[in-house]
Amino acid sequence: MIRKIYKFGGASVKEAEAVRNLKQIVENHKNEDILLVVSAMGKMTNAIEKVLADFRAHDGQLGWEAMTPIMEFHEKIITDLFEPEKVDAVIEKITLLLIELYDKLQDTHKAYDYQYDQTVCYGELISTTIIAAYLNESGIPTRWLDACKYVITDDTFRSASPDWNETRLRIQKLDTEHIRGLVCLTQGFIGSTNGGKHATTLGREGSDFTAAIFANCLDAEEVTIWKDVDGLLNADPKRFKETVKIPHISYSEAIELAFYGASIIHPKTIKPLQNKNIRLNVQSFVHPDMEPSVIDKENGMTIPSHIVKDNQTLVSISPRDFSFMNEHNLKTVFEVCDELRIHANMMQTSALTLSICFDHDDAKREALMESLKESFSVKYNENLQLYTIRHYEEGLEKAFIAGRKIYLEQRSRATAQFVIG
Ligand code: ASP
Ligand code: MG
Repeated sequence: MIRKIYKFGGASVKEAEAVRNLKQIVENHKNEDILLVVSAMGKMTNAIEKVLADFRAHDGQLGWEAMTPIMEFHEKIITDLFEPEKVDAVIEKITLLLIELYDKLQDTHKAYDYQYDQTVCYGELISTTIIAAYLNESGIPTRWLDACKYVITDDTFRSASPDWNETRLRIQKLDTEHIRGLVCLTQGFIGSTNGGKHATTLGREGSDFTAAIFANCLDAEEVTIWKDVDGLLNADPKRFKETVKIPHISYSEAIELAFYGASIIHPKTIKPLQNKNIRLNVQSFVHPDMEPSVIDKENGMTIPSHIVKDNQTLVSISPRDFSFMNEHNLKTVFEVCDELRIHANMMQTSALTLSICFDHDDAKREALMESLKESFSVKYNENLQLYTIRHYEEGLEKAFIAGRKIYLEQRSRATAQFVIG
């Protein structure tokens, strides 16, 4: 029975040294019945996106040289990882995958979202093929599993949702086939439509969600996300000098943090774990002996967290007839937002104006203005930041906001939000 799911993201396998570190972690836990969920190496998903854009710009007519960046990146890792006499065999396996990828990159007459999933999935397929070979070579018996045969989804390419019944049926079979002492290894982020005909992806950074899907279907004990930070931090260390590790929070608090834009865990990850009461650990792969941050059903700490979302658009909407922003007007506006899938990150109403802050998207903003223009005047500002402080304490915002313009400000009991220029 598989009891534990370990998820390793791109940063944890970005070079040979990192893969050796992964091996060491797996070695230390190999008798605990684990399933590894692994992402594409380093920034390979971005790299394939870029190659795909090049193929589409050239109607699919690019030579094999177009594959060089992807090929060289992986070859370097392979040459560094394996003994010289083993290198060729692994490169051969990867070359077969690259040939398939090259083929699919030429299908530029297909819809973009569809072609995206058929090609971008190779980042994960290549990464896990290399890692499975390396673990086996290092004396850790590992079974490579094709996630597309287990994670069955609808056909919303680039943002597919799992068909839970079918996925559960397939994943549960795995438990009966699983052999003690064997490490299972599969890809994050990818799945396929029923029948396995077409690859799908769960949305960028979706590997956390894959780990949660497997954990839910297997009734696992815990999921561990191995990260390059010491655990869950109360702010992004790239933006804030002083960060504090949060040792423990509840599922609901984690959902709140993800909602406000904390990017440490993919937002869809928590629900499947919460439903089965499966513990989520966020643990450092750099200091694997350090205690993880734990997310479970118990109430955790409530230390202030700072979350910043870039690239925000703020629209201010007022009825042209100077009537109040009443329920009828609100209904009209929200119906349009719903249709256009504009998701409000923050909003506020005054007597005459409704302000909505959402992720920058020119097409959506223009469509919103067009739909409302008869009855409402709509103004907007762009390039703003939404700054949220969860478990707000007086004055905490000052350092970050100093000298900047505040466009909108809102406080509830637990949370303060600022839209700033
Ligand atoms: N490789 C995918 C991405 O970069 C999925 C993931 O890393 O979670 O978005
Ligand atoms: Mg990633």
